[in-house]
Amino acid sequence: MTDIKSLDFAQLKDWAVSLGEKPFRAKQLYDWMHVRLAESYGQMSDLPLSLRERLERDFPLLTLTAVKKQVSALDGTRKYLFALPDGNLVESVWMQYRHGNSVCISSQAGCRMGCAFCASTLDGLARDLMPSEMLEQIYAIQRDTKERVDNVVVMGTGEPLDNYENLLVFLRMLTDEHGLHISQRSVTVSTCGLVPQICALAKEKLQITLALSLHAATDEKRCALMPVAKRYSIRELMDACRIYHKETGRRITFEYSLIGGVNDSGEDAALLSILARNTGSHVNLIPVNPVKERPFVRSDRERIEAFKNKLEKTGINVTIRREMGRDIDGACGQLRHGHLNSEQRGERGR
Ligand code: SAH
Repeated sequence: MTDIKSLDFAQLKDWAVSLGEKPFRAKQLYDWMHVRLAESYGQMSDLPLSLRERLERDFPLLTLTAVKKQVSALDGTRKYLFALPDGNLVESVWMQYRHGNSVCISSQAGCRMGCAFCASTLDGLARDLMPSEMLEQIYAIQRDTKERVDNVVVMGTGEPLDNYENLLVFLRMLTDEHGLHISQRSVTVSTCGLVPQICALAKEKLQITLALSLHAATDEKRCALMPVAKRYSIRELMDACRIYHKETGRRITFEYSLIGGVNDSGEDAALLSILARNTGSHVNLIPVNPVKERPFVRSDRERIEAFKNKLEKTGINVTIRREMGRDIDGACGQLRHGHLNSEQRGERGR
């Protein structure tokens, strides 16, 4: 069955014509789905009733069900746990910053990358998300908050470049003039470092920001934290970053989660600084979020500051990730993992 919310504008036109409809119906339908964010065909008042009924019967409109919503009393951050039509779960986060509203979405249900500090990977990969399921996380949040989403970060559960084709369709539909038309520069995709896909993405010449989860400056340390490092060396990764920068003109952001006693020494900072300088990258430091199932602890405040200062002294542009929603389930994937766990224990509907 065709998932019509995953068809881009041109595909939807072809599809409508193949059903014997006029192309302008596709424009109306696309507008209802991707601009006015209709939740049902019933709302699409300028489409003939017969067409609406046919669509309802043959092409049910994908929607997500919010299973859980947590609102931070500290800063208004909202965390959503959404059920997909097949019962799989994904989580998304809404954050308000001075420069606008950001939504963090998931690209897969679960993850198979196996990073040692991450909760999203604890239950493995269930499946890839369709473009519609990535878009709908943003749409559902915009409906709930009644506020426009300004920035989108693909940093929730999943490895976006492990769902490459669907990600690309999603990025086009999110940023082109037919849909929400979010500027490409307001979209960030975060990857653990799949080198062939980074090189392929570079050729698309999108103006999005690519964030690379580095977390260590030597192959040995990176291998201990991230299984993907056994596939691609830091040298190969840095070559991919240079290609990305050359093709798109966009600088890469290195994400670096500081883990106490593991990757937060002066020597780590010095090595990271060389990598950032050689590729013209920014560094975003993330104090690691403790995950119950994992032994890692966050570096203390002074150590984080010292690490930042050391990088800055060598001319690197550094930010420390501001923590949002500290009072609601912290790290990526914890809401979903907690829910799956409670279901296993038979504590439904907590
Ligand atoms: N798979 C993608 C995107 C998802 S994770 C990636 O690896 O980039 C988004 C970011 O949060 C990544 O940098 C990831 O390494 C980091 N992260 C995951 N778990 C974390 C934790 N417990 N504490 C701090 N950062 C974490």
